[in-house]
Amino acid sequence: MLFPTTVAGSLPKPSWLAEPNKLWAPWKLSGAELDAAKLDATLLAVKEQEDAGIDIVSDGEQSRQHFVHGFLEFVDGIDFNQKVEMGIRNDRYKAMVPTVTGALKLKGRVHAAEARHARAHTTRGLKITMPGPMTIIDTIADAHYGDRVKMAFAFADLLNAEARALADDGVDVIQFDEPAFNVYMKEVSDWGVEALHRAIAGLTAKSAVHICYGYGIKANIDWKQSLGAEWRQYEAIFPALAKSRIDQVSLECRNSKVPMNLLKLLDGKDVLVGAIDVATDRVESPDEVAAVIAEAAKYVAKEKIIPCTNCGMAPMRRDIAMGKLKALGDGARLARAKFA
Ligand code: ZN
Repeated sequence: MLFPTTVAGSLPKPSWLAEPNKLWAPWKLSGAELDAAKLDATLLAVKEQEDAGIDIVSDGEQSRQHFVHGFLEFVDGIDFNQKVEMGIRNDRYKAMVPTVTGALKLKGRVHAAEARHARAHTTRGLKITMPGPMTIIDTIADAHYGDRVKMAFAFADLLNAEARALADDGVDVIQFDEPAFNVYMKEVSDWGVEALHRAIAGLTAKSAVHICYGYGIKANIDWKQSLGAEWRQYEAIFPALAKSRIDQVSLECRNSKVPMNLLKLLDGKDVLVGAIDVATDRVESPDEVAAVIAEAAKYVAKEKIIPCTNCGMAPMRRDIAMGKLKALGDGARLARAKFA
């Protein structure tokens, strides 16, 4: 089937699980109740994606509070009480981040519960996302390794262990989120791709990397306004990704100033074409989604196009996010009819 749809990763959480409409939303429950509620929300997220016409569903990231820290919580060697102020994404915003104080080691499985629960309840393709090594080290201070690349490779080895275990759980696509790739373009070819290769070594599932311009929060919207009339960051990093062993690349296209002809640089890869803008509450029409797909098809073989959202939808109003998922499913159907 042409144009199978997927999502970048996160979906809003139900209001009985976490406070709605925000990043870092506090949980509403604790202990065993919270664990059970996370799985209930995962099942809902899967069902809602199926009903919207999403072909490769995710767990909606219902079990984690934040896309980076949801992983870090499971890692030994990090002192969460030793917080340092750090300028994140080349100083786009400041955050208080925890510190690596010893050798990094996984405490155990990270996403086993939600991955297995989702797998047990859907026959569709299943994707689980994790933060990429470069994005992780851009979100944490180092008092142990003394070398950012060395620390990134240490994280990549942990990601690899979890990725392989997820593949054994029946997950079809493992995606690494690397918004930092759009900021440290030179480092992507210097070591960023190599770190991803470590993260996917021996992986039997498909691998993907998601590179966006961030959630629709103010710091990101201001940053986008500083990038000029054409966003050409992808031009600097796509050649290295095209040569890489990563199977799929997920991008922001809808309402973005990325020149679509840059997609040609990803020759040979599956391209997850962002056809839904997550920075606006306006729900796209299926025709608008189909138009983004048609535009991408000028530069990417149509068999390689996977319509997707621009980024995660965690901080969005739930009804709006659901409307957007349905527009994505309906738009892909329209495009299928047009290109059949
Ligand atoms: Zn994103």
